[in-house]
Amino acid sequence: MIRKAIISISAVFCFSVASYGWAWSHKLIGYMAARNCTETTKVALDRYLDVPLADISLWMDIYRDYDWGGMDWSEAPDYIRGTTYWHMISIDKNGKAMMESGRKDPNGNGLPFLMAAIDSLENHKEMSDSAVVVNLKYLAHLMGDAHCPAHYYYENMPADSKGVSGLDSRWGFENGKYKGKADSYHGLFDRAGERIHPEFNMKLKPYAEHIDTLCVASRRKVVEGSVADWVSESGARCWEIYQWGWKPGKEYDDSFYIEHGDFIIYQIQISAYRLAHTLNLIFDPEYKGL
Ligand SMILES: [Zn+2]
Repeated sequence: MIRKAIISISAVFCFSVASYGWAWSHKLIGYMAARNCTETTKVALDRYLDVPLADISLWMDIYRDYDWGGMDWSEAPDYIRGTTYWHMISIDKNGKAMMESGRKDPNGNGLPFLMAAIDSLENHKEMSDSAVVVNLKYLAHLMGDAHCPAHYYYENMPADSKGVSGLDSRWGFENGKYKGKADSYHGLFDRAGERIHPEFNMKLKPYAEHIDTLCVASRRKVVEGSVADWVSESGARCWEIYQWGWKPGKEYDDSFYIEHGDFIIYQIQISAYRLAHTLNLIFDPEYKGL
């Protein structure tokens, strides 16, 4: 069912870059993942994509950000509205990523769709080129979102300032400030990549060279286990961000990134290695590991 749903959403659109989601960090993850693809995988990606992997990594945010004729979002058909639920992951009380959202709406059900994109691509030889391309877009984006520290709903999350508790809490989306301008706690993470290292001026090559530094043993360690294991491990670790003293209305500046930059960069690194590893397993039969 899920695979059919994914393959059927195969239209390709061309829009300007959206300003939310894990934003520019998605491009960095795509670029760094491509650096760690084998030559065979790179040839396969070139065969399907007419732009670099980094350039398709934001498509899922751009797709849902499109002005769909001004329609009321709540009345949008499932094939449009549905994908917006895939960008977040639900984590249960035991720290495990959930296969479906525990919320009143399906928001936070990203894991099965990330897995379905991989599952589909494993049969890429039997698929149409357009179906491969759209599933590559899902995979490149969702592997990033599944590691963004602010992209988890936690079943054990306490009530937010409006008293809404559990997975339905919008904790972290409430207003705060960054350098005097309105920003949410979630937004601090969405725009972290460009803010942690402003010296790279969002240039992918020097930034990726700077952070593509995990030793071989560490790379191989972070790609052990299943995709569900990866997301659970990441989600459990990222619960820590809610222990960093956030509260609605709090004002942040660059000291936040000086203090927590390494934590966030690690999430970008492992997301890129896991994406590269997944692509290599799919497209390179000779692949022996990162
Ligand atoms: Zn997203």
